[in-house]
Amino acid sequence: MYTTAFKKYTSGSSRFYQEACQWLPGGVSANIKYFSPYPLVMKEADGPCLIDVDGNRYIDYNLSYGALILGHGHPAIVAAIQSQLQEAGTTTFGTPHLLEQEMGQLLVQLYPSIEKVRYTHSGMEAALLAIRLATAWTGKRKIAKFEGHYHGSFDQVLVSVNPSQRSRSQAPVPTADSYGMPDEITKNTLVLPFNDMEQTKALLEKHVHEIGAVILEPVQAGFIPPDPAFLKELRKMTRKWNMVLIFDEVKTGFRMGLSGAQGFYGVSPDLTALGKVLGGGFPLGVVGGRKEIMELCSPLRGTNILSTESDGVKYKPLFHSGTHNGHPLILTAGLTTLQLLKKDKVYRDLEQNTMKLRRGMEQILEQYGLPGKTVGVGSIFNLVMTEQPVRQIQDVLQSDQALRKKLDAFLLEQGIYVKPLNRFSTAITHTSEIIGETLDRFERGIRKLTGKE
Ligand code: PLP
Repeated sequence: MYTTAFKKYTSGSSRFYQEACQWLPGGVSANIKYFSPYPLVMKEADGPCLIDVDGNRYIDYNLSYGALILGHGHPAIVAAIQSQLQEAGTTTFGTPHLLEQEMGQLLVQLYPSIEKVRYTHSGMEAALLAIRLATAWTGKRKIAKFEGHYHGSFDQVLVSVNPSQRSRSQAPVPTADSYGMPDEITKNTLVLPFNDMEQTKALLEKHVHEIGAVILEPVQAGFIPPDPAFLKELRKMTRKWNMVLIFDEVKTGFRMGLSGAQGFYGVSPDLTALGKVLGGGFPLGVVGGRKEIMELCSPLRGTNILSTESDGVKYKPLFHSGTHNGHPLILTAGLTTLQLLKKDKVYRDLEQNTMKLRRGMEQILEQYGLPGKTVGVGSIFNLVMTEQPVRQIQDVLQSDQALRKKLDAFLLEQGIYVKPLNRFSTAITHTSEIIGETLDRFERGIRKLTGKE
């Protein structure tokens, strides 16, 4: 998809990528990092920009899949990590320490639905633990998730994340997104259509005695907002039917304000999974929620290895562990990020600049007669090549994805870094000036795409 000129500028990336293929399957460390004909290989970063091995500079709108809300190498993060290392005299203690408490207390203050937290290494592990807690709590083993919603690459949820097109009158059919998954997964994971309350209700009601947890991204893929009543209805239904409601706020947490999508929409889940922004550029996940559910993973309540009785109540053992859980350097980066995000007007400025970018892109698309619009909330959006409403993954599948991919190649060539077909996330380093520069580059890319140079 790259032009001949761009291939010339990025010959170093091509060469490094080919070499990497000798040691890494497909030359990458995660499937999502690959794109055709070869992913760009980076060697440095600076505020809003990435710099590749050929020295090309890109304004970064991928931002490590949305994690870097402060941009690259924020000086406060760098300083905090250095001083934590120096003061503690170690990278990690492998024991309880004070930062675990500090972060826990802060999260409980910021998220009204969170009473206790447990740390993990990633968003995926947070989703996994949340589901384990939920099914242990209800004693019901099956779960429900939504079509097109991503919660990590473990079997239970790697179902219908990338579905095929279907007729809207038919319910989604659970399909495994990877080879190597056990067949029974698609029987144990029910798939629901986002923003379709009628079908969702009917499906859940049919499986009311089996479904222990309903997990969803309150804003699908971080950019498709829920219909106004959708989350509230889901909350009512899950409460009535004894299903634990899990909000996976790995993308939306600390992007839609300090209390995430749940604060924004005023709906309290039972459990929440957090990650990305919270780690300040380091790998961190958190599960938080109602204390009686969270307490299931307490070693005081039926140890993880042995089932014991305490307080006269028999608790089932629920094991969860991780060598580096609550890692002090990661929590330092996370706490520093939250301190900066708590400052006045940070979210206001971020959202205003994001809106400026979105409106500018839409005006340019219109000017050049291309069908397309931005869809998003807060500081995340996507560019969907359609004029139809976008309310769920099926609408994205029906958009002109081939056109979007072509456009992405021209955007890369113009120095706008976005993973093809993926979302745009903004950072505080995307100042008004950088947004203006992005729009100039965007227009040059569109001119090339349409041949109107
Ligand atoms: N949940 C959501 C909503 C995500 O967007 C992601 C990652 O993109 C995950 C879970 C998995 O998080 P991680 O990549 O940190 O394992």
